[in-house]
Amino acid sequence: MRVASRIGILTSGGDAPGMNAAIRAITLVGRAQGIDVVGIERGYRGLLEDAVVPLTAADVASIQREGGTILGSARCKEFHQREVRDRARRILANRAIDGLIVIGGNGSLTGACRLADAEELAGQTLSIAGVPASIDNDLGLTGLSIGVDTAMNTIVEACDKIADTATAHDRTFIVEVMGRDCGYLAMTSAIAVGADLTLFPEADKSEAEIVEQIVDTVLAVRGRSRRPRRVIIIKAEGVSIAADRLKTAVDTRLGDKVPEAELSGIETRVTVLGHVVRGGRPSAFDRLLGSRLGNVAVRTLLGGISHKMAAWMPAVELSPDVGFRSPVDPYCWLVEISAALAETDRLLEGKTALARWRAGAFDAIHDTLLL
Ligand code: ADP
Repeated sequence: MRVASRIGILTSGGDAPGMNAAIRAITLVGRAQGIDVVGIERGYRGLLEDAVVPLTAADVASIQREGGTILGSARCKEFHQREVRDRARRILANRAIDGLIVIGGNGSLTGACRLADAEELAGQTLSIAGVPASIDNDLGLTGLSIGVDTAMNTIVEACDKIADTATAHDRTFIVEVMGRDCGYLAMTSAIAVGADLTLFPEADKSEAEIVEQIVDTVLAVRGRSRRPRRVIIIKAEGVSIAADRLKTAVDTRLGDKVPEAELSGIETRVTVLGHVVRGGRPSAFDRLLGSRLGNVAVRTLLGGISHKMAAWMPAVELSPDVGFRSPVDPYCWLVEISAALAETDRLLEGKTALARWRAGAFDAIHDTLLL
């Protein structure tokens, strides 16, 4: 058990609203405990360029209000190579950084584990802690990651607006939302929005089945005796058919099924929300989540514990060797980063009980709520 004496913070991979709250909490708690805290700019790329900056209370004042990350983020393919990580370790040693907190998604946390791999370290001291940040909510062993709540709110706000114009014209909208290979944002925001249909990769449907699902939904809604007859479909980006191609296929199928005289009244439009979902001021909850997970992560390193991810109420039972409740925050847990990464893989392959629950239960809740 070795307590870190100088802690570096790094944000990496996809940025997420709430990362700044975590940076602020780590800085303030670390400094209050008498530890020097520094920031590493632009993720592992910045680390390789020795882009180390001091972080003081003044540097992090009020940053929890801002989206993105004040440290910047980047992707760095070279980090997959052992000799590149050796270079990164030398830079950390030169800077006397012996504790590193990585705020990011599964790729970033994998990079952290590689960096602090016992065999690769070859005697160098480096403790690591992970803070899950990903709007996609694709990380295992944490109920939520930083950024999910803000992204969900952004989607709901956008879809409420789209629903207004869709209702006015009785149109069908296919709205594509971010989430990489994970359908969580599409599933949950569809319930909040009151969408008519959700398309997510975990359902594992063929293109033909998806087109049929959409056409059936449109025809069912249009068969209603009274307005509104608008249709909102939320499509996760992980459903690999491009939204425009999907629209064309749906229009073609509707042409097969609907008499020509009625077709002119049916219009399908596409909105891809794209990076809008990633940005913006963090919600109050993401500010709180970032602060609490950051607090737990830094105190973990200060307690001489390494290789743990600060997690928010894991939705599965944890055996004590995989994780335990944080002694400083009853809603937070400390889980082995490697276990969280293994669970992430299983989650994305749809193999875990949670993945099956999400795919089935969100659909069932959604169908029950349809009026
Ligand atoms: P996220 O953290 O949002 O999942 P990425 O998957 O793009 O984002 O990963 C961010 C960065 O983490 C990568 O650009 C790379 O520098 C590092 N990384 C990802 N996977 C590995 C790996 N297997 N080994 C070493 N570094 C990795």
